[in-house]
Amino acid sequence: MASQVNGHSSGSDAQGGKSLREDLQEFLGGEALLHELDDLTKVNPVTLETVLRCLQARYAADMFYTSAGCTLVALNPFKPVPQLYSPALMREYHAAPQPQKLRPHIFAVGEQTYRNVQSLIEPVNQSIIVSGESGAGKTWTSRCLMKFYAVVAASPTSLESHKIAERIEQRILNSNPVMEAFGNACTLRNNNSSRFGKFIQRPLAQQMTGAAVQTYLLEKTRVTCQASSERNFHIFYQICKGASMDERLQWHLPEGASFSWLPNPERTLEEDCFQVTREAMLHLGIDIPTQNNIFQVLAGLLHLGNIWFADSKDEAQSCQLMDDAKCSIRTSASLLQLPEDPLLETLQIRTIRAGRQQQVFQKPCSRAECDTRRDCLAKLVYARLFDWLVSVINSSICADPDSWTTFIGLLDVYGFESFPSNSLEQLCINYANEKLQQHFVAHYLRAQQMLSPATQLPPLEYAVEGLDWSFVNYQDNQACLDLIEGSPISICSLINEEGRLNRPSSAAQLQTRIESALAGSPCLGHNKLSQEPSFIVVHYAGPVQYHTAGLVEKNKDPVPPELTRLLQQSQDPLLKVLFPMDPEEKSQEEPSGQSRAPVLTVVSKFKASLEQLLQVLHSTTPHYIRCIKPNSQGQAHTFLQEEVLSQLEACGLVETIHISAAGFPIRIPHQNFVERYELLRRLCTRTSAGSHSPSPDEGHSEWSPHTKGATLQPLLQDILHTLPALTQAAATPG
Ligand code: ADP
Ligand code: MG
Repeated sequence: MASQVNGHSSGSDAQGGKSLREDLQEFLGGEALLHELDDLTKVNPVTLETVLRCLQARYAADMFYTSAGCTLVALNPFKPVPQLYSPALMREYHAAPQPQKLRPHIFAVGEQTYRNVQSLIEPVNQSIIVSGESGAGKTWTSRCLMKFYAVVAASPTSLESHKIAERIEQRILNSNPVMEAFGNACTLRNNNSSRFGKFIQRPLAQQMTGAAVQTYLLEKTRVTCQASSERNFHIFYQICKGASMDERLQWHLPEGASFSWLPNPERTLEEDCFQVTREAMLHLGIDIPTQNNIFQVLAGLLHLGNIWFADSKDEAQSCQLMDDAKCSIRTSASLLQLPEDPLLETLQIRTIRAGRQQQVFQKPCSRAECDTRRDCLAKLVYARLFDWLVSVINSSICADPDSWTTFIGLLDVYGFESFPSNSLEQLCINYANEKLQQHFVAHYLRAQQMLSPATQLPPLEYAVEGLDWSFVNYQDNQACLDLIEGSPISICSLINEEGRLNRPSSAAQLQTRIESALAGSPCLGHNKLSQEPSFIVVHYAGPVQYHTAGLVEKNKDPVPPELTRLLQQSQDPLLKVLFPMDPEEKSQEEPSGQSRAPVLTVVSKFKASLEQLLQVLHSTTPHYIRCIKPNSQGQAHTFLQEEVLSQLEACGLVETIHISAAGFPIRIPHQNFVERYELLRRLCTRTSAGSHSPSPDEGHSEWSPHTKGATLQPLLQDILHTLPALTQAAATPG
């Protein structure tokens, strides 16, 4: 049988066995050695304050990773720490007999997943779920784990297959700069913020190689609309800064040109490296002509953004172009290889089909409608381009998840967001975070505490060991998820329904509907001071106020069919691929009176893809990495307690530690337990002589192999009580 020690196993024995004195000092949690505590379950007592103190001490000592039971806490150093990510260190973790016993590190998690998936006895799918606020280090962590797998992945035996495997590994690594150039942007919180979610699966068993990338909800609105002090996607700046003279001429990007969709171009970031993106694209099989074609289309979008209309004095007349915009529309049309007049007309005039015969009417658009159609065109092209790039990447890295028996999944999704003004994007992002938190709760907190939801009984193992179990409270976020996605009525269903009703819905109307239909939810709040219609959702990570203006429209994400039809007329080879003539679509456009298949809303599509993702995650053994941002300015050597505290609270780290500690996650074989603590027991009985402690002989029986956890527990408590006296004793020889 195995004795259990309440979370007190540590990296210490892996590092060659510490002296008793060191062990004791560790138990005491002395301030001087606080940074040595590499497992937060050893902090005593476990409170927000003690955990915070320990993390701060470790941060000051450049120890950025700390275990917290089932979770690895990763503090963002905000400075280069090359020795922490060297291939030599990767190999060290890979070669270690027990990597979990080395210092906590993402490589230990990587290695564990790698071994589990390769297990000859029982290979199980693995997943690593990286979470944290924007700028906390999720993408960095995922990138390092990808590099780790590239370094340690088993090399196939033959030289030829080794070369192929190496090439694929290189391509997998090259997919990062490409996806980041097109999907990341500089925001207030992070200069290189991922504006899409990413799930990468790697087979990594039976000498297989390859990867499959799945992306989620690219924030395409950023192409046409950027908050002040933020930027568009990096790629636009890369082209404008990195194009050669010839390319500038070709793409109509003279030096110093100003584009309304390219704010803050004067800020130079290390992410603005065009050459890196181009080389990575080349490695992925995207040849130079295709690359040039992509950049030409993107330049076309930039010129599209400079098209402005003047108000029309007469409703029956189309809005005319502003003077400066005439050149922009010509340039844009030429770069997108679209006929100029139809482009202008499509932006100015709406086609309406009405009546039984679906008669076609044309109606001039207002200035605001013209702007919306221009923006819609750009978002449509960019979103399709991004999806196409992901599919090219997938075919280049041998994505064939259906043929993989086991895999490791790496999830890097946008962290919880709360801005002064939040809209549909934040609702989706925070909804995804709620789902992942629930997955964590279900997989870890609940599973640790109750094996069977039916019996509501503690794990059987505890009963066998005779251990009491007191339930640790944790925050279950089901009520919040019910509010967002529940059936029959939820925020999502109401937003969808407002869209379906096809009536001009006002922001106030949506707020009233949500408040009256969902009044019973404990997670719905209202900001009485708000000037604009809004509602509050109390998320597990904190309350967020969502403004209802434009929510319904954004959710419908309508694409006027004229826009797609226009793009299908393009002579540009890339646009031809992105917007193929679809015979079915063509027949649907006929005024046959037949109704079209319902178009899925943003929320419905997002919900479906989230459910699919969670299904995949449920088939895996999950590993959690919680990234923490020590300060929001991105400064090295700066640990702001308030900011870290709110992140610790938001992810429920203390509850996780309590459960990990109470849940006996460490099971030490009886013999090792006796060897490690025998001396301690003797000291204990000596210093507390005369009290209730057993005599050495009596005490010895307590170490018998038949000892149960319940018998060991008071003994350990006794030892801990006597620790102050023991330190003294340990210091005096004998
Ligand atoms: P997230 O994906 O969580 O939004 P990132 O992974 O993009 O955040 O990290 C934000 C920035 O923090 C990075 O650009 C990098 O400068 C820095 N950073 C994150 N993790 C590390 C690390 N382990 N070592 C050094 N710098 C880091
Ligand atoms: Mg990121």
